[in-house]
Amino acid sequence: MWRLLLMGTLLQSTGIVVQCRNINLILPSVPDVLHPPVPSSQAGYNIRGDDVDGLQSEEDIDPEVRPGLFQGDMAMNNEIFDYWRVGLRWDIFPEKLWLNRTVPYLISPLYETEHRILIYQAIRTINFLTCIKFVPWTGKEKDYLLIWPVKYPSGCWSYVGRYGGPQIVSLQPPDETGANCLGTDGRPIHELLHALGVFHEQSRSDRDKFVKINFENVIPQYRSNFDKQSLKNTTYQFEYDYDSVMHYGKNFFSIGKGKQTIVPKMEGKTIGQRKMMSKTDCLKINDLYGCLGTPPNYNYKYYTLCNYMGL
Ligand SMILES: [Zn+2]
Repeated sequence: MWRLLLMGTLLQSTGIVVQCRNINLILPSVPDVLHPPVPSSQAGYNIRGDDVDGLQSEEDIDPEVRPGLFQGDMAMNNEIFDYWRVGLRWDIFPEKLWLNRTVPYLISPLYETEHRILIYQAIRTINFLTCIKFVPWTGKEKDYLLIWPVKYPSGCWSYVGRYGGPQIVSLQPPDETGANCLGTDGRPIHELLHALGVFHEQSRSDRDKFVKINFENVIPQYRSNFDKQSLKNTTYQFEYDYDSVMHYGKNFFSIGKGKQTIVPKMEGKTIGQRKMMSKTDCLKINDLYGCLGTPPNYNYKYYTLCNYMGL
């Protein structure tokens, strides 16, 4: 099945030498091709919409919907697909948790300086607002994130939770088509939150109370991207969050311009922001990694930071 992308089938490219702290490191495995092959466009539909007047909305060209991965931007396997919630359940997938709340990372030397700075800014934001520590990979840690401008499938995508070994987070840099994944901090943050174990907000089992999915407007082969999960596998600590950086935008996977795929049921709500973590995103990730403490020993530092700094 197209959506079950197995890490084991990644082709390994020849090692890339990276200079890090004056040492030449050879990256162990930087996949430049993913299998099964993912079509970049779908027959019969122009996923990027028709741009007749130059007023193409950002959602129409959203780089999160480009790869044919699970829900657009997540690389999944059977095991995770069957048991998931808005955040991964560590009791079922303890191995997906980053140990000691520490995530070693390496930003590809292929990025321009300004783009490296933006990615670093996103990392620093998570480091500041949570007790999770993204630390530069020293070349010794076995598990780490490779933040890479993957060519195929391009776009913004990530695995969910710690995969083990070098793990790609794909952030496509700006090009002549637009900003892609590096227009705002929100997009790198979105993919990094996937890598920490967070799923899309609208996949919650109670989402139908909050949004209407117009399945007739969804490109047929992408309808499963709007699946929700049964309560059996899901628990939610927080209220449904329209402001989440993990929520789909109104036109994601749309068959054409003006055909909204998700409509908020509450008046005045907008969805799909990619500026910044919302207050609830911030609390959710802190909760997932145990940063908030347990009663009666709550750690109010992160409650306060999230409430002040979250969108
Ligand atoms: Zn996503």
